[in-house]
Amino acid sequence: MRKKMIITIDGPAGAGKSTVSKMLAKKLGYIYLDTGSLYRALAYKALKDKIILDDISALDSLCSDINIVLKNIDGQMKVYVDGEDVGDKIRTEEIGLTASKISAFAIVRQRLLELQREAGAEGGIVTEGRDMGSVVFPHADYKFYLDADPPERIKRRHKELLGKGNSPELQSVQKDMSARDEQDSKRDIAPLKPTSSSIIIDSTKLSVPEVVENIIQQMSDK
Ligand code: C5P
Repeated sequence: MRKKMIITIDGPAGAGKSTVSKMLAKKLGYIYLDTGSLYRALAYKALKDKIILDDISALDSLCSDINIVLKNIDGQMKVYVDGEDVGDKIRTEEIGLTASKISAFAIVRQRLLELQREAGAEGGIVTEGRDMGSVVFPHADYKFYLDADPPERIKRRHKELLGKGNSPELQSVQKDMSARDEQDSKRDIAPLKPTSSSIIIDSTKLSVPEVVENIIQQMSDK
């Protein structure tokens, strides 16, 4: 039987990582793990508890108090915070921006590291985030870096938020995305960037099925 592989997909917000990873995982019969939802889960609790986001001791307490559990529901790892299925509640721009702020702290990244590695321990996983190939799964079988031009990423994120019942202005999505791009790529720990062995795919002009086909093709060529 073929080895159950670890496939990582990193890239900036709006590059299409989630939809692509979900479709790829389904095709391969693999688990899908969206690691951004873990950072969002911590951000959700931070906002709920009104903690000061750059207060290290408050972040320390947050990390030790929070109970985060991942459950495999039909192949997709769902996040539970203190017993609550946080689902779509964590998909707002405010939570995305807060997640980006707190994810720059070592204590936060450390808190989530084991959880992510445990989820991938048996392989058979497509996992997406910012540091999947560089830090969490440096020995992954295949590492992809999915990118797209900023205007296209903004358009996609705006559409996604509208679809989830939010009604943000395109301009505010643009502002939040450039703040996140800046924070995620310039931070000292685990900054967003392709590794030397990442296969880079520009999805600007590609549909989701085309990106998935491209990934499968690249995997069979290697
Ligand atoms: O992927 P998503 O946009 O949901 O992630 C929210 C934020 O969580 C990102 O902007 C990033 O700062 C952080 N994140 C991270 N490392 C990951 C996944 C997400 O730092 N592996």
